[in-house]
Amino acid sequence: PSGSPPTVRLVVLGAAAVGKSALILRFLHDRFEHKYTRTVEELHVLEYETPSSGKMRVEILDTSGSYSFPAMRELCIRHSDAFGLVYAVDDPGSFEEVRRLRDEILELRGGKGAPITVVGNKADLTVAEGRELLAGEVMATVEGGWDANFVEASARTGGNTVGVFRALLQQVNLPHRLS
Ligand code: GDP
Repeated sequence: PSGSPPTVRLVVLGAAAVGKSALILRFLHDRFEHKYTRTVEELHVLEYETPSSGKMRVEILDTSGSYSFPAMRELCIRHSDAFGLVYAVDDPGSFEEVRRLRDEILELRGGKGAPITVVGNKADLTVAEGRELLAGEVMATVEGGWDANFVEASARTGGNTVGVFRALLQQVNLPHRLS
């Protein structure tokens, strides 16, 4: 119906404990909780407006912990409009998981294309505090080699969490979805 805003489906994927839920919580409510809560699957729905694309209904799927449901993951990969692949800057293994997820997404989507934003979370951590992945190096791989978006953010400080979702929404081709 022409009266209702278009729906945009975002999915947030990544290894356990990289801060997927924390990023979403920060974006939605500007809060951060230290307690680690295992999420099985949570869908957040909100209305969002940008000057360029107007009002839209945004669905954000938090997949934290859902690796035990591969069929569900496959379904959401097929039906999403943009993908946030999150790693933590102190966890090189979580970046390897981002690589695997990207491969899986590209394979499942076939020719449909996959708008991917890679998110380096926990950007508040310094090298002394455990940071192992440097933004410049990851950016070269992601923006140069993969042709995907790259952002760093910190759910803890709130730094650039809006930028994460702005990058995701920028990749969605709204007019295409309306047709
Ligand atoms: P998820 O499993 O990917 O959803 O991860 P959570 O959102 O549950 O976060 C996992 C852990 O990382 C929690 O203990 C959070 O407090 C911590 N965490 C999340 N975001 C950040 C961040 O930006 N900086 C730091 N230093 N810790 C974070």
